[in-house]
Amino acid sequence: MALIKCPECGQDVSDKAVNCIHCGFPLSSLRTDGEVMIKISSKLQGRCKVYDMNSRRVLWEGTTGEVAVFSINEPTWVGVAWGFNADRLDKIPDACRATVKAREKWEMTMESTSMWGGMEFKLRRVDSINAGI
Ligand SMILES: [Zn+2]
Repeated sequence: MALIKCPECGQDVSDKAVNCIHCGFPLSSLRTDGEVMIKISSKLQGRCKVYDMNSRRVLWEGTTGEVAVFSINEPTWVGVAWGFNADRLDKIPDACRATVKAREKWEMTMESTSMWGGMEFKLRRVDSINAGI
């Protein structure tokens, strides 16, 4: 356990504390480590991998339609690969890459790109995961 200075009252508090024991400031909001959830659209087919785009490390591996849950220590640039290209970082479309932060929830959904019926998969941040997509 380490001590940090509370940004609100300036007193020493444990870096593991959820709230400052002196003034109640929500210290957990400062933490950069934690879980990220990404709901992967069930309209995609096959295997799915979430990559740390910088280190090329696989953060999560599963099947489309699942909710990917993984832990990060700091804001991380991730990309979602699926299907035949699940092992190919270079095939991940720009819209399926995003910088995510701890405790955020994301969805990868299919969105239309034009009135002529073009579709693309896109990562977008959401307040809560919608199980139905
Ligand atoms: Zn405080």
